[in-house]
Amino acid sequence: MAILPIVKVPEPVLRQKTKKIKKIDASIQKLIDDMIETMYDAPGVGLAATQVGVALRICVIHANDPDMRSAQDSSPGLIVLINPEIVKRSGTRLCTEGCLSLPNYRSDEVPRSEKVVVKGQNRDGRPVRYTAGGLFAEAIEHEVDHLNGILYFDYLDSIDKLTVYGPAEDGEAGEEEEVTAGH
Ligand SMILES: [Zn+2]
Repeated sequence: MAILPIVKVPEPVLRQKTKKIKKIDASIQKLIDDMIETMYDAPGVGLAATQVGVALRICVIHANDPDMRSAQDSSPGLIVLINPEIVKRSGTRLCTEGCLSLPNYRSDEVPRSEKVVVKGQNRDGRPVRYTAGGLFAEAIEHEVDHLNGILYFDYLDSIDKLTVYGPAEDGEAGEEEEVTAGH
């Protein structure tokens, strides 16, 4: 396994429409392993293939949330979604979100669904379907957006609405670090 470099805005691959995976071969398995390691290293709650420069429909998610239901997955907490498709969305809410491809920024006003149902395949090619709420739902919408070339700040009226956080450049302690999910 290897930690891959995370592609940053404005790399064009982040805006590319990704290709559906037809055959889950050894190279795809290696990509999945590397994406999982890269996500944990970041750390992030999710990672899409475009963020490691690959325009294929794969994402990995590890969102610790009581709403997470992953009965079909042997390792609850971590899921791999191949060719994911959100088939149902319900409710609306505002989420606090950040993206590994745009470090040190976040927004408290990202419109998301309360609940989503996603279907796709796991890394063995078996069909999976998850009903998600909370952070899991947010992660699914964020990652599936990535696979469609959409970034979370596209939902804001203006990029000026992004909040800068992290260490201040002068070496003084910056704004108290809040926990923001990075994907
Ligand atoms: Zn992201």
